[in-house]
Amino acid sequence: MGYSIHMDFTVAPEDLEFGDRVRAWVEANVPRDWTIEYPYGSPEWVEFQKDWDRKLYQAGYAGMFWPREFGGTGASPERRFVFAQVMAETGAPEGLGHLGRRVVAPILMTHGTPEQQRRFLPPILEGREFWAQCFSEPGAGSDLASLSTRAELVGGRFLVNGQKVWTSNAEFCDWGFVLVRTDRQAPKHAGISCLAVPLRAAGVTIRPIRQINRQSDFAEVFFDDVEVPLENLIGPLNGGWRVAVTLLNYERGLESAMSRFADQRRAVESALLAIREKPERDRYLDAHALGRLQAEILAIPIVAMRLLSTQLEGGDPSELASVLKLQHSNAWQRDASRVLLATGQASMLKREPAESQFLFYLMSRAVSIGGGTSEIQRNVIAKRVLGLT
Ligand SMILES: Cc1cc2nc3c(=O)[nH]c(=O)nc-3n(C[C@H](O)[C@H](O)[C@H](O)COP(=O)(O)OP(=O)(O)OC[C@H]3O[C@@H](n4cnc5c(N)ncnc54)[C@H](O)[C@@H]3O)c2cc1C
Repeated sequence: MGYSIHMDFTVAPEDLEFGDRVRAWVEANVPRDWTIEYPYGSPEWVEFQKDWDRKLYQAGYAGMFWPREFGGTGASPERRFVFAQVMAETGAPEGLGHLGRRVVAPILMTHGTPEQQRRFLPPILEGREFWAQCFSEPGAGSDLASLSTRAELVGGRFLVNGQKVWTSNAEFCDWGFVLVRTDRQAPKHAGISCLAVPLRAAGVTIRPIRQINRQSDFAEVFFDDVEVPLENLIGPLNGGWRVAVTLLNYERGLESAMSRFADQRRAVESALLAIREKPERDRYLDAHALGRLQAEILAIPIVAMRLLSTQLEGGDPSELASVLKLQHSNAWQRDASRVLLATGQASMLKREPAESQFLFYLMSRAVSIGGGTSEIQRNVIAKRVLGLT
């Protein structure tokens, strides 16, 4: 395999103490019933998430994964891992700023100019500006390089026209990290660039998409002659493909996997509770199935840690990112129906999303699509890990 692993899974006592401090802080700062109190997508939810981003910053946790030179903690891989684990286990909110912090910021640190870093990084860290990822289009999902939203250089600025779709949280965000075609003659991967587009600019229309679970996690985003200054080009002109690939690795990385890990653990715990209440339900989740499910879930943080250490050593984590994404989507999808059956009809009536196994089941259909489908992850693994052509 193309990556090296230097890891020691023993967590030092000071990192464990750090974990205890974070846990106590979350418990003191997150209302127990926040998912009921602030229904997803409501104005109260948006404010609550933004407030959480600011709290993370004030407590010094927003930059847990950032190097010191950009205002982060420069924490060791072990400490980052402990942090991600505690956040996942305690069911802490992710904050509206999670995409900015986890995905956009590392890209700006690597590919942004010093001016862009000064302009964009502090508001992300402090929870003042929020980012959405505008990649997918009606005609470009898995084959992202076929995208047709275009940006033309006219009079020293870009004019952007086209449509994006499935943009998570677009209606609540300030900035779009937008992939655009800047050279229509070049081969498709070579004519793409990345732009920071203000989502409240004239010419941007955001239309939320209503889902089967009654929520609107994502939206369609339309660009009609949207003016974007030249200095908002991130990375080289027509060199956006490499930037986009780096971004996807962060999207499929440690923190996303850890929050999936927490969701799955919680689902299994409520299935166990249901079986304890009605032992006959164990026909849906017998000891063998349960053992396999637990093992699959426990493997997620281990692979996540390997991914993190590869990333920190400057290695290419693409294969591991695909393994991790495939692993947690598979585990979730394969067992969600089993967990749903074990918890029974009552699960459909629960209001609280974290507890509702029905919503957990519905969401399991989406996890093998968002962030790149399972087939695409398998293609990456086949080519890059197994060397198949
Ligand atoms: C919950 C969720 C959140 C999302 N958030 C965002 C977001 O914030 N920003 C954003 O830009 N996008 C987002 N997306 C969109 C997501 O990235 C795309 O849906 C995904 O990349 C698949 O693209 P598609 O829907 O066009 O399907 P298609 O690419 O049309 O795929 C259709 C089917 O064909 C299969 N297929 C396609 N190509 C191949 C191939 N080469 N080999 C084998 N099988 C193949 C796919 O696996 C799939 O089963 C989100 C999606 C979901 C579900």
